[in-house]
Amino acid sequence: MGEFERKKAVVTGATRGIGRAICNALLADGCRVIGLYRGNHEAAEAFQAHWGDAQLTLLCCDVADHDQVRRSFAEIEARFDTLDILINNAGIRKDAIIALMSSEQWQTVLDVNLTGTFNTTKFAVPLMMKQKYGRIVTITSPSSHMGIQGQANYAASKAGQIGLTITLAKEVARKKITANCVSPGFITTDLIDDLSDDQRSAYKKLVPMRRFGSVDEVVAAVLFLASEKASYITGATLEVTGGL
Ligand code: NDP
Repeated sequence: MGEFERKKAVVTGATRGIGRAICNALLADGCRVIGLYRGNHEAAEAFQAHWGDAQLTLLCCDVADHDQVRRSFAEIEARFDTLDILINNAGIRKDAIIALMSSEQWQTVLDVNLTGTFNTTKFAVPLMMKQKYGRIVTITSPSSHMGIQGQANYAASKAGQIGLTITLAKEVARKKITANCVSPGFITTDLIDDLSDDQRSAYKKLVPMRRFGSVDEVVAAVLFLASEKASYITGATLEVTGGL
């Protein structure tokens, strides 16, 4: 047990990839974790079975759906009263060059990545304000400023998350709530499973360390910003990119 013992955290996109690794680290440290996922019940059930009910609660909630998020946070408030940590991690890609991108591809990515971050943050902040303490960490991406072809929707959503975060940081600073982003480079998860071998080797050449990162390398940065130690850091983006 460690510094997250007696803390309560909401993690979105909790059952796979980076989100699951964040949950595992918080849970191993004694944190009470409420994880949100969209619809992969198989992954959720396996994760729940591993940790049991005492420390982990999983809620099926589409972060893009304002009403679902409102209902989930009403349940969280009824059960846990306050909240210490929010990790906005849920995210999707639907790549296409702009000329061929459908409005559905554009809108869905904006809805999940950016509006989803707004929805969860909006309902988490009052639970943090009650106790005048909170840590909000949002997972953005270097795509926000690199201009990777085919990722206009994703880049816009990820740049939007940074804009939201620097604004939020100022709004909640006096309540001792911090808001920061972590920006992972290429990290081996399901999200980039669809990359071809050619794309993988081209992307690796862009990375000065010449390799993709691991989820645990992202977790270390997230846990630091989510900890009490990061008390004077707000509105920042911490890059975990191998120098990208
Ligand atoms: P994964 O695809 O491995 O996992 C995504 C998770 O998000 C799943 O648990 C999924 O739930 C959940 N999710 C997706 N849509 C929703 C939704 N509408 N509501 C609630 N939950 C949802 O992704 P990663 O772990 O790779 O990515 C996590 C974050 O890191 C994302 O924000 C991504 O943009 C960012 N990132 C990832 C990088 C990478 O290289 N992997 C690089 C830079 C940033 P379910 O299982 O139910 O579908």
